[in-house]
Amino acid sequence: MIPGARLIILGRQGAGKGTQCVRLSRHYVVPHISTGDMLRAAVRERTEVGAAAREVMDAGSLVGDEIMIAIVDERLQRADAQTRGYILDGFPRTVAQAEALDKITVDRPIHVVIDLDVPREIVVARISARRVCRDCGTNYTSTGQERQPWICEVCGGDVMQRDDDTPDAVNRRLDLYESQTAPLIEFYGTQGRLEVIDGVGHPDEVFRRLTTAIDQSRAL
Ligand code: AMP
Repeated sequence: MIPGARLIILGRQGAGKGTQCVRLSRHYVVPHISTGDMLRAAVRERTEVGAAAREVMDAGSLVGDEIMIAIVDERLQRADAQTRGYILDGFPRTVAQAEALDKITVDRPIHVVIDLDVPREIVVARISARRVCRDCGTNYTSTGQERQPWICEVCGGDVMQRDDDTPDAVNRRLDLYESQTAPLIEFYGTQGRLEVIDGVGHPDEVFRRLTTAIDQSRAL
C-alpha cells in the first residue's frame, strides 16, 4: 500500500461514513477533513465564521458556498494535505462547491469520489435504534429485547433517545441530504468519477471494498 490519497466521501447519515473515514485516514496516513467538524469547532471557539454558521447549522440549512469554499481552500493549502492528501467528508455539498474544488485541486486532482451507499430504510432503522445515557454518555444500540431498555448498565442512569434520532427527524434529515446530494451524484457520475460502494455488511468488509476501489482508482 502506498500512503497518500485524495478522496471525497459522500453518504447518508448513518451509513458508517464516520467510522470508515477514521479507518481510511489511518490506512492512507492522510488527514480526515470534515467540514461539519470544522464548523462545530468554529462555533465553539466563537470565531467570525462560527458566529455566521451557528444559526444556519441549527436550522439544518447549508452555510454559504463562499464561506465554505474559502475554509476548504485554506485547509487544503496546508502542508499535510499538499504532501499526503486528504479525505474530504461533508464537502462538496453543492455543485458550485464541486466546481470550485476542481479549480482548487487542478494541480493535484481528486483520485476518486465515493458514495458509501446504505439504503434509506437501513439507516433509519440504525439511527432510530441509537440510545444514550443522559448521565454518563454511554451509547447503546437497542435490539428491542432489553429487559430494562431505559436504565444504563454502566451507571444506572437514564437512557434516552436523542430528539433528532426519532424516525421523523431522521427522515427529515435524509430528505434534505437526498435533495442536496442528488445533483452532486449526477455531476460526478456523468464525468465517470464516482464509485458507488455497498456500505451494508461488517465494517471490515466495507473497509476492504473501499480500499480496493481507492487503490484501483489511484493506479489509473
Ligand atoms: P455535517 O456534520 O457534515 O452533517 O455538517 C453539519 C452542518 O454543517 C450541516 O448541516 C451544514 O449546516 C453545515 N455544513 C457542513 N458542511 C457544509 C458544506 N460543505 N456546505 C454548507 N454547509 C455545510
